[in-house]
Amino acid sequence: RRLELRALLDQPTVTKDGHHVELAANIGSVEDLQKVLSNGAEGVGLFRTEFLYMGRSSLPSEEEQFQVYKHVLERMNNKPVVIRTLDIGGDKELPYMKLPVETNPFLGLRAVRLCLSKQELFRTQLRALLRASSCGQLKIMFPMIAVKEELLEAKKLLAEEKEKLQQEGIPVSDSLEVGIMIEIPAAALAADILAKEVDFFSIGTNDLIQYTMAADRMNENVSYLYQPCHPSILRLVRMVIQAAEKEGKWVGMCGEMAGDETAIPLLLGLGLHEFSMSASSILPARALMKDLSREEWAGYAEEAIQMGSERQIQQFVHDKIGRV
Ligand code: PEP
Ligand code: MG
Repeated sequence: RRLELRALLDQPTVTKDGHHVELAANIGSVEDLQKVLSNGAEGVGLFRTEFLYMGRSSLPSEEEQFQVYKHVLERMNNKPVVIRTLDIGGDKELPYMKLPVETNPFLGLRAVRLCLSKQELFRTQLRALLRASSCGQLKIMFPMIAVKEELLEAKKLLAEEKEKLQQEGIPVSDSLEVGIMIEIPAAALAADILAKEVDFFSIGTNDLIQYTMAADRMNENVSYLYQPCHPSILRLVRMVIQAAEKEGKWVGMCGEMAGDETAIPLLLGLGLHEFSMSASSILPARALMKDLSREEWAGYAEEAIQMGSERQIQQFVHDKIGRV
């Protein structure tokens, strides 16, 4: 099986009925790139930049960030790279920043909320990203968008920094895409509104499931509620993809669900365009997709979404793909 997988290394990901989907990798640092390249990823679907800010005693400078982003883009050799702006707060702390102590950190000032309240920190990261944009195919992604106003504010800051750089004569790519993560139920439910303001969506199922089920993703006492293939989650995913398609935008997924072999056929059937996962899942996912017909799974996904429980849906998928 290993040899079979190796044969898929430089192949595009094409379904049995000829649809191309993109299989990308999630990374948290430059060190992860080796595995991304050696596992045949078609791009980076999520670069979690918070690790640049953690495990140190002060904020990384614009220059330091620029060098890291440039390095990643250059190593990926013009393949698409989605870089997510700082997603700190929740369980990820930065002791040197003296963030407010909150009773419900996961419902508090985290990610883009924090960045919008600390504009200098945010502007520094945006400038580093904009400067790096001419080194490859960069896509900037804002995490934890709940409402349109946050997105418009983030885009405004980005446009202002771009303008400043251009006045300084620093090149900025004109094919830079700007997208958001869909990881809050409110954003999924209003995806049609948000779709008008972005180039792409990437569904962050780790948080989307946690917030939809009201179950802490780290709490083992409620882990039975962590159900990627529950009809509630699949319906939200379908809603997001349909809303994006209406506006001609692409949709990826960068939560763990994107690499889950039971979820993959359903996601393919729902029309997901890009799957971003840990590097080691890429070749198995490519092998699986080669055997699936998107057309056929579009019908199965509609059937599945009407079922009463995740258990039933999992059983249904396993019966169809002939695996247990
Ligand atoms: C997610 O929420 O699905 C996601 C990819 O982001 P993180 O796991 O970093 O919160
Ligand atoms: Mg998240």
